[in-house]
Amino acid sequence: MVLADLGRKLNAALSSLNRAPVVDDKVLDALLKEVCAALLETDVNVKLVQQLRSKVKTKVKATFESTADKAKETNRKQVVQKAIFDELVNLVDPGVEPYKPKKGHFNVIMAVGLQGNGKTTTCTKLAVHYQKRGFKSCIVCADTFRAGAFDQTRQSATKAKVAYFGSYTETDPVAIAAQGVAKFKKEKFEVIIVDTSGRHKQEGELFEEMVQIGNAVKPDMTVLILDASIGQAAEAQSRAFKESADFGAIIVTKMDGHAKGGGAISAVAATQTPIIFLGTGEHLTDLDRFSPQPFISKLLGLGDVQGLMEHMQDLATQNPDRQKEMAKKLEEGKLSIRDWREQIQNVMNLGPISKIASMIPGLPQELLQGSDEDGAARMRRMIYITDSMTSAELDSDGSPFMEFGKDGKPVALTWRVTRVARGSGTSVREVEEVLCQYRVMASMAKQAGGKNGWLQAMQKMQ
Ligand code: GDP
Repeated sequence: MVLADLGRKLNAALSSLNRAPVVDDKVLDALLKEVCAALLETDVNVKLVQQLRSKVKTKVKATFESTADKAKETNRKQVVQKAIFDELVNLVDPGVEPYKPKKGHFNVIMAVGLQGNGKTTTCTKLAVHYQKRGFKSCIVCADTFRAGAFDQTRQSATKAKVAYFGSYTETDPVAIAAQGVAKFKKEKFEVIIVDTSGRHKQEGELFEEMVQIGNAVKPDMTVLILDASIGQAAEAQSRAFKESADFGAIIVTKMDGHAKGGGAISAVAATQTPIIFLGTGEHLTDLDRFSPQPFISKLLGLGDVQGLMEHMQDLATQNPDRQKEMAKKLEEGKLSIRDWREQIQNVMNLGPISKIASMIPGLPQELLQGSDEDGAARMRRMIYITDSMTSAELDSDGSPFMEFGKDGKPVALTWRVTRVARGSGTSVREVEEVLCQYRVMASMAKQAGGKNGWLQAMQKMQ
């Protein structure tokens, strides 16, 4: 991800601050110069960068002056870091909360944007996102302008196992949109995504059509799909669309491929419209939820506990009874190998491993290395290993795999470990590692005391 470069540069600047023996004007200026250069490189508007620089300076000076006698160097460093963090957040924060789809309601989302920006792809990604979180989701293809648009929707929706509606014969996009939404409402779909036609450029005809479709389907949220490669020009495009179709949120696509992504995000924030997701690749799961503070936190390598919590809560809403049962087991320190395996499977269902892992604060960077396939393969191996355990072993706390000495401490592995290794086509060592990981997680979850057990256990790992 190109943003990782920006993150690295910002990180490098902040760590040079840590190395400085004293924090004076010279150090602060040098640090701000580095931060600003990194932002300009990602196409953030010069004026916004200048504002950030002067706001940080004013804040830092005010704090230094008010606490001059007491402030130790470490405090001064924290003051600077916090001021930079807060101003980076302000840079990407439009100060407006987006619409959030509600369970048990019809949530109609209409996607608009220029052709080629990734609208159709993003509609399927959105449907997959909400479907995974327990919303019955579907897509209506009201793009009659581009030949092959319906075929594209049909193929990607079929691949994603999402319901879709469209027509090869009907040429009126307003009629298709209305029919599709009515049909899916009747079938009690909860998230209904309407994909509209794009054009090569902003044309009166496109805006007129958007307004008509909007009137016909009465969307709860209209989302503008913007391509990150336009950088700070995103501001003009977003304003032009806003004048015609009053959209409530933006998704910036192709963040994976373009160095100007930071510019696009900050430009959009300047138009007071919330960005809800970032498109980060061509796969259906390449969609990252966006919210200002967690975004900056993740960019600076500080994790995204909020994002992780939301993921866990999404899981809880999907199967509240099971999650309650799990929380009780955790509280009582009774997490079995079977329960642990279920949690691993849950994490695997949430999305690419690297995305989930990057939300966990304090996780050693080495663990994030390797491709998602590597991460998923590692997790799948853990599952294979548990698949070779007997039912009684799965329901245990791992003790059948150990022989214990008189003092109650484990002294040796039992024959069961060899059997599981043979059965799963792995080595004794790998089985041993899986058991060890299970024990660590179970004991930490117990200490964390239930509630958000797994999450808290992970937080405690820091
Ligand atoms: P539409 O004309 O706006 O509906 O655009 P499409 O959905 O057809 O997408 C145009 C191209 O952009 C396709 O090749 C997509 O695979 C690609 N695309 C869409 N979103 C992303 C993204 O987030 N990252 C990358 N790298 N490519 C994307």
